Amino acid sequence: MPPPVFRFAPSPNGYLHLGHAYSALLNADLARAVGGRLLLRIEDIDASRCRPDYEQAIYEDLAWLGISWEPQVRRQSDHLDLYRDAVEQLAARGLIYPAFESRADIARLVAAKDADAPWPRDPDGAPLYPGAGKRLSAAEQARAQASGAPYALRLYIEAARQIAGELDWCELGEGPGGEAGIVAARPLDWGDVIIARKETPTSYHLSVVIDDALQGVTEVVRGADLFWATSVHRLLQALLGLPAPRYRHHGLIRDSDGRKLSKSTAATGLRELRADGVTPEQIRRMVGLPAAS
Ligand code: GLU
Repeated sequence: MPPPVFRFAPSPNGYLHLGHAYSALLNADLARAVGGRLLLRIEDIDASRCRPDYEQAIYEDLAWLGISWEPQVRRQSDHLDLYRDAVEQLAARGLIYPAFESRADIARLVAAKDADAPWPRDPDGAPLYPGAGKRLSAAEQARAQASGAPYALRLYIEAARQIAGELDWCELGEGPGGEAGIVAARPLDWGDVIIARKETPTSYHLSVVIDDALQGVTEVVRGADLFWATSVHRLLQALLGLPAPRYRHHGLIRDSDGRKLSKSTAATGLRELRADGVTPEQIRRMVGLPAAS
């Protein structure tokens, strides 16, 4: 049996905080406990928010925590052509369409619909795509694209779900509602998700499934805020013929007011804590992990 493969996949759009420390340490502990491998992946497809100095800080902070990962780090921005190919595959099967509404357009459309009856929201609380993109003819799509207008490529979620059939995943952790074991995927809850954008030939959902497969990841250990995103991941895996890893979603570290940590809250930033003299051993205690053996 090849060893299980874990990965920690931060986005270099800010400094790591206690929540990242928990996720990274948990991955490292679990990998060590089963003689598994630990990979590091830099999820930097959003060129407007990611910065090389944040990436450098990730390496420093993880090393300070005592985590070691395999030297070959995968950086998503190095693989845009690969994601573009997958988008083309989906496009060739008629599963995606360009939608030209801006965020403001969408907010306006949803406000109008909300006035009648509450418009459905996705598991993250964002309104499902209400736009008219999927009703454009091929000629209208081509004209809008040729005009240079920005667009998002969206998945025809119902058609995709029909092709893929019922999907589920193996959950070793726990979902927000206590879901565990074999969990039924609910991709329709997300509406026509964005698969790529004009200026970025991929999305978080698409890159994550492609990379997990290419890196041979067998164990995805990540925050419970991504629990229901797994529905979309399972759907894309099915459409692209990729294997499904096992998933373990872990609880989120919250601040003293019970809020999810953000990269801009200095109080829980690893750099700040380190500068204040906090030790890696104390960080383990702060996130509720047992002392390192
Ligand atoms: N890059 C994501 C984040 O920093 C994590 C993605 C994942 O673990 O699937 O939140």
